Amino acid sequence: MGGIVEGKRALVVGVANKRSIAWAIARRLDEEGAHVALTFQGERVEKDVRKLAGELGNGPVPVLPLDVMDDAQLDAAVAGAADALGGIDILVHAVAFGKVEDLGGRFMDVSDDGFQLALDISSWSLKRLAVRVEPHMRTAGGGAIVTMSYVAAERAVPGYNVMGIAKSALESIVRYLAWDMGPDNVRVNALSAGPVRTLAARGIPGFGDMVDNAIERSPLRRPIDADEVADAALFLCSDLARAVTGETLHVDAGYHAMAI
Ligand code: NAD
Repeated sequence: MGGIVEGKRALVVGVANKRSIAWAIARRLDEEGAHVALTFQGERVEKDVRKLAGELGNGPVPVLPLDVMDDAQLDAAVAGAADALGGIDILVHAVAFGKVEDLGGRFMDVSDDGFQLALDISSWSLKRLAVRVEPHMRTAGGGAIVTMSYVAAERAVPGYNVMGIAKSALESIVRYLAWDMGPDNVRVNALSAGPVRTLAARGIPGFGDMVDNAIERSPLRRPIDADEVADAALFLCSDLARAVTGETLHVDAGYHAMAI
């Protein structure tokens, strides 16, 4: 029997190393029969991403350079993935960046250019990618787009600051894309994950406290891991979620449901 995304062609953006949530998602999609393309941002991580690509079992994995701030790279990465895979059915967007000085401290001190940069990279890049994958998904008769959010989009998390705004914008972009792309049977959803120890998480001051807090106050009283996020991503990318769009699904051991 085939996997639940057998034969689907997936472009996964946001793998930096083996701890990346995007890597857990890529692995899961691959295990369930998808043919995956990966991207890397900058030469610093290229070797690691190429090595990881070699671990995927489902055929040769195209590995393409992509800085989401670079229009030419956006065009080339989407075209290159579509060429190599024979189309695109799935887009995974797991990208975020905020300047160190705009994370931690007072929200009041976030700079204008730090705000613009964080939103450009972490939020607007989803729209910029969606525009480029749209023709491929239209040709395929539909598709699924999944991005990564955090509860700070809905509630104030002291210190998360500019990334909280970026995640609010991201979840809003998900809803607008869902409306525009729905007639082509393209579904657009976000996963709101609990804290997971990754490279990006290391840049957030007080991340350890966020994890402790989440464990203490989540209904399940435990942390979550990247594989649990990947399972939910697999669901959203599959036909099991064929009527789910414009949604933000929490994978956070229930933390978002509490007010303590
Ligand atoms: P990560 O550091 O492994 O991934 C972040 C990725 O963003 C990296 O691959 C990095 O190269 C990429 N990136 C940053 N700027 C880029 C640019 N200009 N162009 C292209 N790529 C760029 O960390 P992660 O925790 O796996 O983060 C993935 C997503 O999950 C992010 O959106 C993050 O906010 C979100 N998220 C993480 C957690 C967590 O606790 N780790 C919780 C909720 C949501």
